[in-house]
Amino acid sequence: MIPPAFEYTRPTSVDEAVHALADAGDEAKVLAGGQSLLPLLRLRLAFPELVVDVGRIPELRGVREDGDALVIGSMTTHHEVVHDPLVRRYAGLLAEATATVADPAVRHRGTLGGSLAHADPAGDLPAVALALDAEMVVAGPGGRRTMPAREFFVDYLQSALAPDELLVEVRIPKADGWSFHYEKFHAVAQSWAIVGVAALVRRDDGRIAEARIGLTNMGATPLRATAAEEALSGADGPEAVARAAGAAAEGTRPAQDLSASPEYREHLARVLTRRAVLTAGGMG
Ligand SMILES: Cc1cc2nc3c(=O)[nH]c(=O)nc-3n(C[C@H](O)[C@H](O)[C@H](O)COP(=O)(O)OP(=O)(O)OC[C@H]3O[C@@H](n4cnc5c(N)ncnc54)[C@H](O)[C@@H]3O)c2cc1C
Repeated sequence: MIPPAFEYTRPTSVDEAVHALADAGDEAKVLAGGQSLLPLLRLRLAFPELVVDVGRIPELRGVREDGDALVIGSMTTHHEVVHDPLVRRYAGLLAEATATVADPAVRHRGTLGGSLAHADPAGDLPAVALALDAEMVVAGPGGRRTMPAREFFVDYLQSALAPDELLVEVRIPKADGWSFHYEKFHAVAQSWAIVGVAALVRRDDGRIAEARIGLTNMGATPLRATAAEEALSGADGPEAVARAAGAAAEGTRPAQDLSASPEYREHLARVLTRRAVLTAGGMG
């Protein structure tokens, strides 16, 4: 299909990009890797008058340390995230989950910022950002603001970004002392998750001291499995983990679609949480 006609601009700085978005009101769309936006344009599900291509803004690329945080530019590609030594060292869960996103061609074009801004609950990285307690740094006409991941994902395919705002970078607290695993259930290799579970575990004296669980595709937004997180505190072996994982679907509202019923997704959330926590905690 051929997309509808649109104006196109390719700014070279964040300020220029924000001005272009502000001038267009809510008639503009940011273009990052294009892996989600281009299909929407071609299917004529999006009709922007202006496309703002942020692919030539150097500030939006790369990974750096900033004290206790890792800072990843929004235009950093999935491929770069998977192979970056700082990400692997301080946010290994993100590298592991990103390696399961689609296929190499998509991972070379698609970006971390694009995946988060797209706010697809079936995307792997929003749930990972929630589990990692990531923060989003956003630029708009009034300057920059930072918001936690739990406030960023508002509804199905809807983030907290205003039409004239750009996601600039993602800040992730360094996960020293945490082990992790991303468990993804998909029907076909290199495809979307039917359900995914992102687990971070901190152990103390053989027990789980603290766990953080992010759920992919268990509602209109990515979710934290808070009931399971609480139940996991103090778990000392596989049986205790299995009992706690039984709470993983509490508070979720998974969708019915061609891949799975809500009940099947709830079952998957419990099973995958148990597997993810046991693997993360080295207790399997
Ligand atoms: C065949 C295929 C399989 C896929 N499989 C998976 C999968 O298994 N798991 C998974 O998680 N994803 C999957 N994806 C999606 C992929 O991860 C995309 O990279 C991602 O959804 C969007 O990233 P992008 O950089 O291409 O963003 P784009 O498509 O360019 O943009 C997506 C949306 O975000 C907005 N946006 C982008 N960047 C910014 C920014 N910096 N600030 C503000 N708004 C912004 C755009 O305006 C648009 O609305 C798949 C995609 C394809 C084509």
